[in-house]
Amino acid sequence: MLRGVRSAWLLSLLLGLGCERGSSEPMRVASGQTSPAVSARAEPESAEPDAGPPETREQAAQRLARSLIILDGHIDVPYRLHEGRDRAGKLTENVLERTEGGDFDVPRARAGGLDAPFFSIYVPARYEKNGAKRFADELIDMVEGVVAASAGALVIANSPAQVRRLKAEGKLAILLGLENGSPVEGKLANVQHLFARNIRYITLAHSRDNHLSDSSYDQRRTHRGLSAFGEKVVAEMNRLGMLVDVSHLSDEAFFDVVRVSKAPVIASHSSCRHFTPDWQRNMSDDMIRALAKNGGVIQINFGSDFLDGELRLRNRKRGAELGALLAEKKLGPKDARAKPIVEAFWAKVDDRYSTLDKVVDHIDHVVKLVGVEHVGLGSDFDGVGDSLPVGLKDVSEYPNLLRALLERGYSEPDIEKICSGNVLRAWERAEAVAAEHR
Ligand SMILES: [Zn+2]
Repeated sequence: MLRGVRSAWLLSLLLGLGCERGSSEPMRVASGQTSPAVSARAEPESAEPDAGPPETREQAAQRLARSLIILDGHIDVPYRLHEGRDRAGKLTENVLERTEGGDFDVPRARAGGLDAPFFSIYVPARYEKNGAKRFADELIDMVEGVVAASAGALVIANSPAQVRRLKAEGKLAILLGLENGSPVEGKLANVQHLFARNIRYITLAHSRDNHLSDSSYDQRRTHRGLSAFGEKVVAEMNRLGMLVDVSHLSDEAFFDVVRVSKAPVIASHSSCRHFTPDWQRNMSDDMIRALAKNGGVIQINFGSDFLDGELRLRNRKRGAELGALLAEKKLGPKDARAKPIVEAFWAKVDDRYSTLDKVVDHIDHVVKLVGVEHVGLGSDFDGVGDSLPVGLKDVSEYPNLLRALLERGYSEPDIEKICSGNVLRAWERAEAVAAEHR
């Protein structure tokens, strides 16, 4: 892993690329530094006397955002684009350019130093036994169309080695994860089909139990965990080198997965239940310990609901109040006349959003529990609506998170693990398990 990073860095030097990506970005802050990994704990005063002005935390965060690979486990932009299509089925947003709405577009990804977003191929639960595979294929086709229109700036990647190569080339590595296993449609051949289409993780279930697994949101507990076929799907994913994603699963299904899986698993967009007691969508401490034992990674979700249980309950109450207010005026939430009322309502609330610091609290919690090798980033950008913390509103704001990690005393090698190293290690291990199968 380290060798890969170093060779990418060397390659960029040989090719004369000042930084691996966005050579138009000013790199003054890094001039005079010979090591890519200066200790974060070093005070600015301790810099070499001839190294120019001392680097501020802000500058260090910007430098890291450019030099490290930032991999995000879950960005819901495909579904956002699909939902926004016009009547003729044409896309109404071009994420290759700056978009007005949404949390992801390529210029903002560049500004934030994002290198490898997992685009979520999200298949709503209603498609179970109702055209799920066709819908997944449609979303993948759509993403392929966006990538094809990028003139090589974006590339669909399907391995850690390719992610590293693309970083060195200054290209954005688009990774594909399937959210909801419904498209498997009862056939292992469909797992192979999805793998061939570059899907590299499957979130086994979404908001309802499906034929593979129970969901944390569904009280039926259909299989009391994984179904028998779900276990076969996990084995097939291990055989192929596809990561199993445990986000959204019930606790029983999670423990089934770590029992069955021969490869590390990920939670592509879950946070710590410690901060949201009784909410099964996040992971309990016992689950995080079991995940770590399996070699896996929990990728922290940035949505306010995921970060702060008390805030989630307060906002739920406020949402009900707002709903009643609109109902009184006989307005639906999407009515044009509702907009000023909704805006005025939230303008009076000063703690609607969680904080950047809280995201770091979640990272800290995992680190204290199981070490820094098992935590990563899974923003859920474009998937959690208007609930993102101040300072982490979109893909341009990862440097704020890096600065907050530096402020908490995280070293640069540890920040590299959190930004991508841990997930790439788990993924490489999954590839190795698949190779052992052959
Ligand atoms: Zn989700």
